[in-house]
Amino acid sequence: MILVTGGAGYIGSHTVLQLRERGAEVLVLDDLSEGHRDALLGADLVEGSTMDRAFLERVFAEHSIDAVCHFAARCYVGESVRDPGQYYRNNVVGTLNLLEACVAAGVTRFVFSSTCATYGEPPAVPIVETMPQAPINPYGETKLVCERMLRDLQRAHGLHSVSLRYFNAAGADPEGRIGEDHDPETHLIPLVLGAATGRRPALTVFGDDYPTPDGSCIRDYVHVTDLAEAHVLALEAMAGGLTGARAFNLGSEAGNSVLEVIRAAEQVTGRSVPYSVGPRRAGDPPVLVGSPAKITAELGWRPRFADIHAVLETAWRWHRDRPDGFVA
Ligand code: UDP
Repeated sequence: MILVTGGAGYIGSHTVLQLRERGAEVLVLDDLSEGHRDALLGADLVEGSTMDRAFLERVFAEHSIDAVCHFAARCYVGESVRDPGQYYRNNVVGTLNLLEACVAAGVTRFVFSSTCATYGEPPAVPIVETMPQAPINPYGETKLVCERMLRDLQRAHGLHSVSLRYFNAAGADPEGRIGEDHDPETHLIPLVLGAATGRRPALTVFGDDYPTPDGSCIRDYVHVTDLAEAHVLALEAMAGGLTGARAFNLGSEAGNSVLEVIRAAEQVTGRSVPYSVGPRRAGDPPVLVGSPAKITAELGWRPRFADIHAVLETAWRWHRDRPDGFVA
């Protein structure tokens, strides 16, 4: 059985869906503080938090867990700048609790949700895994600490892991069953689509004076279904004997600026996206684009939704059909 923490969240739920479609037995651990019960599509849930060590011990004692995918975390750059303590508590202490529960229960396979934010402002793009990790915001710091814990616990206890450094997760299940639904929503693509339909206010572009061709920030938007597939590949590789504390970028090597995303969304939706330009957001590096070469070579991962229009089409379908997101 695979334990998926944060399996009711955005990337977690898409991974749960893909694992189940491939016949895996899945148990979701989620406190539903951010996630949605409806995003589980009927997957088994144990409701609780990684902050609760006794609860974790019970979960491991009562279920036969072979591997863990750990998504449960706080994941907003801006919020992490304003309230770092919450990030160290949830992301670092929560992960440590989970890792110690794994070690105590003899679980030796762990897939960790890491982030391109661990690179900070990279010396060059596309980013490769050997570049220095020097986060510029607390969110990235907490994820980097977790990667280091994984390295140390592997040496000390033989807990093998794959850290997947996500670039910008985007899009929705191509069949429209689940999608992105955050409250409050801070991510660019749902805000752009909401502005296009008039359900949300006009978009504020956070800065147009960055050293990029059009002055707005460039990000590597990777389809959530592609991200989910990487977890399946990582679990398969570890079941097949992959050892160590590994880390891979999940980028597509394609960067799009905020203004390019707005234009692409106008093409996909056939509507105009009202926006104005505001100040920069604290903690935002100008360009984050990742090379997938290492994970392509070692795990055979390749993004299937390689183009921002294809990504936006799935997001748009979800947004149009479920404008209020999940009910529960
Ligand atoms: N962004 C923006 N306006 C918004 C939300 C986001 O200009 O209302 C920009 C943000 O500065 C970043 C990009 O869009 O350059 C992606 O931001 P998001 O919050 O979606 O993801 P992050 O890069 O923080 O993980």
